[in-house]
Amino acid sequence: MKLIIFDCDSTLSSIEGIDELARAKGPEVFAEVEALTNAAMNGEVPLDQVFARRLDIIRPDQATCSTIGQLYIDTVEPTAVSTLNTLREKGWTIAILSGGFKRLIEPLAEFLGIERIEAVPLELDSEGKYLRFDNSYPTTYNGGKPEIIQQLKQEFSPDTVVMVGDGVSDLETKPEVDCFIGYGGYTPRPKVQEGSDHFIYKLDELLALV
Ligand SMILES: [Mg+2]
Repeated sequence: MKLIIFDCDSTLSSIEGIDELARAKGPEVFAEVEALTNAAMNGEVPLDQVFARRLDIIRPDQATCSTIGQLYIDTVEPTAVSTLNTLREKGWTIAILSGGFKRLIEPLAEFLGIERIEAVPLELDSEGKYLRFDNSYPTTYNGGKPEIIQQLKQEFSPDTVVMVGDGVSDLETKPEVDCFIGYGGYTPRPKVQEGSDHFIYKLDELLALV
């Protein structure tokens, strides 16, 4: 089988879910969290430190999570639906691998017909208030995405694995995959572009590459 794995934030959708959760808490929280996210995505601060700090600040509840879940769909990459449909016709199995939160990404995955989501579990209480995130989940730390890809390779024994993403944490998967495609439609990063096998600005450009 052929496995293609997509990052979610700033790749399948234009938004960064964590930033949108923060925006819902007001401009000061947003500015603080956005700076942390950018520092992590540019490889300036270790991801695990940023993760805990951001959630301690935001403490997202169920209502906010639902709002952002819909926002992921509203901001879907313009060529994503047709690209994924074509990939399925060509026999690709599609998965999402994200450092974002699983419950935020699930609506978009359903919209896109993607069954497999690897993303960070976020636990709320029975009243929908924030409890905790799973700080042992691999994508909360640097090197976590390659770890998940190793697990997926064991599970599926794919003949070919392709990864598509915009961030440094995505580029970390390159040694584990047959082809790494950098995506720069929203946040092109020189470091990612330099390291990629191919670099695209619209998702449908990858159809000529795989
Ligand atoms: Mg991303």
